[in-house]
Amino acid sequence: MIKAFNNFEDIEAQFKAIESDLSHARRTILSLVSPPALRKVVDTYKECKTFEDVEKWRDDVSTEVLKFAQVNERGRAACPLCGSSGSNVQGWGYKFEDGLWAHLANYGKVNECSILRHINALARERVESKIDEDALAKAMGR
Ligand SMILES: [Zn+2]
Repeated sequence: MIKAFNNFEDIEAQFKAIESDLSHARRTILSLVSPPALRKVVDTYKECKTFEDVEKWRDDVSTEVLKFAQVNERGRAACPLCGSSGSNVQGWGYKFEDGLWAHLANYGKVNECSILRHINALARERVESKIDEDALAKAMGR
């Protein structure tokens, strides 16, 4: 629940609480990815050290997730992560591989994978916190 704000400290505290809740929710989303082999694939976000790593990771992990797709006789598949089958304007499922990859990697006009969007955000959070740690260490002369 959003409370009334008396000053900027209240706003900052509320913002931090929401940010913390969002991060927790994202970790919960990650923990629910199934099967465990697929969770292990997306859990590689922890290896990202820079924002460039995150960009490359998103493309690479999207390619890895394709291996979990169950492609039908029409060459289409639902997303192995979020279960989305696309807009269905051109038939059920995403065109395999390019349509599904675009959904996962967030390219073009295809709707973005909601699960990978949040895991991508976890990767960015991780890089941001690492940058904050490095800046603190530098400021402290370490
Ligand atoms: Zn998806």
